[in-house]
Amino acid sequence: MIKLVAFDWNGTLLSDTQITLKAENISLKAIGVKPISLKKFQKTFDIPVTRYWDNLGFSKSFVKTHIDAIENTFHSQYKILAARARTRSGVRETLEWLVAKNIARVIFSNHDIPDIKRHLARLKIEKCITDVLANPGDGRLQIFNRHKGQKLENYRKQNNFKSKEILCVGDMCEEIEIGKEYGYHTVAITGGFNSTARLKAAKSDFLIHNLKDLIGIIKKLNK
Ligand SMILES: [Mg+2]
Repeated sequence: MIKLVAFDWNGTLLSDTQITLKAENISLKAIGVKPISLKKFQKTFDIPVTRYWDNLGFSKSFVKTHIDAIENTFHSQYKILAARARTRSGVRETLEWLVAKNIARVIFSNHDIPDIKRHLARLKIEKCITDVLANPGDGRLQIFNRHKGQKLENYRKQNNFKSKEILCVGDMCEEIEIGKEYGYHTVAITGGFNSTARLKAAKSDFLIHNLKDLIGIIKKLNK
C-alpha cells in the first residue's frame, strides 16, 4: 500500500534537462572545455558531481583548479535560464490525483530548498507538496556526497511510514539506487538527466515516460 510518493525535483517534476545542459555548457566553455551533447550529458551525469567530472575525463587537479569557476558559472546561468522552466508533462494531474487520494507527496532533492520553494510557488503547485527534503543552503553538498537518500529515510522513520509504503520517483540512477538501498518501490522516468540505457541497467521496479503513468502503477500496488 503506497502512502507516500517521494519525487525527485530536477528533470522529474521540473522540466529543466535542456536548461541544465545549457548552463553546463556555458560553464564548460568558461574553463576552456568543448560543449557536450544531450546524449553525452545523459550518459555521464551523476551525483556526487565529482563522478560526472570523472566520467568527462577531468583529472583531480583540473577540477581543483576550476571548481569555483565551474560552479559559479553554472549556478548563475542556471538561475537565469530556469526562471521560466515548466513542470514536466503530467505533473499537475498526477499531484492532484495524489492529493485527492490522500497519499503524501514529498520532494527529495540535491537542489536547494529556497529555490525549489520559489519554483513551487511560481508554478502554483506548492499546496500539492507536503514537504521538501533538500539542501538547506547553497546547493553545493552534492558535489562530493550523496545525501538525499538519508534525508528521505529519516523522514520515513519520523513519520512512521513502512519502507514498502514509499514509492520513489526519479530521472536518475541515483533515485533507483536509493530506493533499492532502503527498500522502497522505485519508478524511473525517461527523458531527464540520465539515459534510458542507464535507467534500464539500474533496474527500477517501473520505467515510465510520462509522470501520469504513476497513477496506474499506484492503483495496481494499492489494489
Ligand atoms: Mg533529477
